Amino acid sequence: MQLKKIGVNTLCAHVGEIKDEQFHGAISPLYMSSSYAYEDVDVKRYPRYYNTPNQEALGKKIAALEHCEAGMVFGSGMAAISTALLAFLKQGDHVVVQKTIYGGAYNFITKEFPKYGIDFDFTDGFNENDFRSKIKSNTKVIYIETPSNPLMELTDLEMISEIAKEHQLISMIDNTFASPINQNPGDFGIDIMIHSATKYMGGHSDICAGAIATSKEYMNIIWQEGINLGGSLSDYTVWLLERSMKTMGLRVKAHNRNAKKVAKWLVTHPLIKKVHYPGLRTHPDYALAKKQMKGYTGMLSFELIPTIDADAFVKALILIKPSMSLAGVESTIVSPAKTSHALLSKEERLQRGIEDGLLRLSVGIEDKKDLIADLEQAFESVSKKQLQNK
Ligand SMILES: *Cc1c(COP(=O)(O)O)cnc(C)c1O
Repeated sequence: MQLKKIGVNTLCAHVGEIKDEQFHGAISPLYMSSSYAYEDVDVKRYPRYYNTPNQEALGKKIAALEHCEAGMVFGSGMAAISTALLAFLKQGDHVVVQKTIYGGAYNFITKEFPKYGIDFDFTDGFNENDFRSKIKSNTKVIYIETPSNPLMELTDLEMISEIAKEHQLISMIDNTFASPINQNPGDFGIDIMIHSATKYMGGHSDICAGAIATSKEYMNIIWQEGINLGGSLSDYTVWLLERSMKTMGLRVKAHNRNAKKVAKWLVTHPLIKKVHYPGLRTHPDYALAKKQMKGYTGMLSFELIPTIDADAFVKALILIKPSMSLAGVESTIVSPAKTSHALLSKEERLQRGIEDGLLRLSVGIEDKKDLIADLEQAFESVSKKQLQNK
């Protein structure tokens, strides 16, 4: 069977699996060994070398999902991000970073890069000139994340890859929010795809892991850096992640369907000021979303009208749980102003479009009618309380 011809669910279920030659079991055997016989080969097997049987096998699945030559698994999304960036940057280099990126990546760049003498600039926005205007003679890497968190703003993948090629930069994307089911940036010319596998790849809120997909040439550079930084993943967790990824296609499509339904329902609600979801026709980047995404993810955010207390609304939810993390089969909600962006002043938050009434919803795979019923009863409860308080 040719890889390009098989469907994504077949790929999730089968690519990279290890044949159980000994007992002919149905699934990949788990090899927990941290010590392998010395053989006359260049590369010895060792967990921190990212080359145990299970690590290598899962790397193949990740590569196939992102339409790349090589895939590698890491101990966390941040291990993947830090290893990828440090592999291609050295003292005196400069990197152009998209305006809004994951908080941990932002902290890594702003806190660690000065120690290494690596220079960086964040863009002022998401447009071509926002990126072009930050490029310097020593720029080596362009780093993006689309859709962004929590406002679901999009960056044009083709545009970024054109800029990168013109200036001979390495382009990197944090593709966590989309997952390889909804977006394959490599098809648009992006060089390196990075994932927090803690999110849609794991999908059950029980695994912390990361992943990278790229060419063999770039992966070799990342691997050299990775063995020095030591951010590998335990084989047991690799094996669990393989199991999770077998259902990733099914899960992500269920997340997509539910989120679209919930987004469409929220738009019509009188207590909602705005809904941010790239699958809505009213989203400013809807045309771009259609061009570069296959599905619009389970992630959305919405703003309550100012008279509704976001905290009270979250507390009134029964099924949808408050949680910092995302992309599990269960629906979760978070207030960015109270959590991820709490350390910023209100003005700084507003500059980034984070209103106090903004809530980010990670739509799970529950029955959509139950999710909508939960939101509905929470709206009713907070609007009733408000009337009583008047
Ligand atoms: C969670 C997350 C990360 C970090 O991943 P960890 O597995 O927690 O290290 C990076 N990027 C995005 C978009 C994330 O949501």
